[in-house]
Amino acid sequence: MPATIYYDKDADLSLLKNKTIAILGYGSQGHGHAQNLRDSGCNVIVAELPGTANYEQAVKDGFQPLSASEAVKKGDIITILLPDEVQGDVFRTQIRDNLSPGNILVCSHGFNYHFGQFDIPKGVSAILVAPKGPGHLVRAEYVRGAGVPCLLALGEGAGDEARKIGLAYAKGIGGTRAGVIETTFAEETETDLFGEQVVLCGGLSALIKAGYETLVEAGYQPEMAYFECVHEVKLIVDLIYQGGLNYMRYSISNTAEYGDYSRGPRIVTDQTKAEMKKILAEIQDGSFAREWILENKANAPAFKAMRRLERQHPVEEVGRQLRRLMSWIDAKEY
Ligand code: NDP
Ligand code: MG
Repeated sequence: MPATIYYDKDADLSLLKNKTIAILGYGSQGHGHAQNLRDSGCNVIVAELPGTANYEQAVKDGFQPLSASEAVKKGDIITILLPDEVQGDVFRTQIRDNLSPGNILVCSHGFNYHFGQFDIPKGVSAILVAPKGPGHLVRAEYVRGAGVPCLLALGEGAGDEARKIGLAYAKGIGGTRAGVIETTFAEETETDLFGEQVVLCGGLSALIKAGYETLVEAGYQPEMAYFECVHEVKLIVDLIYQGGLNYMRYSISNTAEYGDYSRGPRIVTDQTKAEMKKILAEIQDGSFAREWILENKANAPAFKAMRRLERQHPVEEVGRQLRRLMSWIDAKEY
């Protein structure tokens, strides 16, 4: 079933008129939501941690940041734009007891709500307004008169009133200029995790490393392996982004296109797809969420170890050297 898409005409900003919107966290999303809503005529307050760079940024942008508890007390609409790993703890210690009946809690990712980390008091509804892009784009598009498409979802018990507030909020950040798609917390959370684990981050990194290692182990120069298995990914992804697989296949050589059809299915096989289904099941049944929440409660030992080991992969060293040769790519030294 095709999704319902809402635009500017479907949203009424005046519903936010006499309300205070508390934005918790002035990071990537927070700075975009706060400034866009303020420029849309809303009354916005911000919460940040004193002594941090983002606190100073909020001050520079004309806000007077409060603590999360103070901001929640003052807010009618409370948007939680803290890092996902801290949201559960901050909710329990600073948010929950400061919410009042009639308040609306807004999230931009459903992880904590969907996996039971928010024990929301009676009379408070939760909604999701999630831009499908990073915060700097949410801000930049708004400033140039456009917007980033958003997802909208209603939490348990939230009805048409909450939907209207969600649409007004999405209009305030510029989302309805592009289009707002209605989804559910479950769908947003589960597809987001699946995408990042299987295709975008997990799948792609593993594919790149395995391809690079195969060439180097066969005796080819690491520099050649880097160009073929890492650098050129962007070329292909840009074509897919602009015109789908068809346009990418139209643009590449016939030899490359034939290799794509005839060899691709030998790399991502039925076995790979069976593993994708297992990963999806672990997302759906909460076992991934439990693993990640407990990992953070233990101060992330496995996460830190994996991060350290992955940083030492030889492809990273070769890449650092080669990127220095290409002045146009805005190389980042990480
Ligand atoms: P960031 O890490 O960029 O920003 C979070 C901010 O919250 C940081 O400035 C952090 O400070 C601050 N903070 C942490 N703890 C507290 C606290 N107790 N009180 C006040 N401020 C605090 O997060 P994002 O903007 O990336 O993510 C926010 C939400 O948006 C998440 O749910 C994420 O999933 C979602 N989202 C993110 C997208 C993205 O592209 N980034 C896209 C769509 C949704 P410090 O840095 O000092 O720790
Ligand atoms: Mg994501």
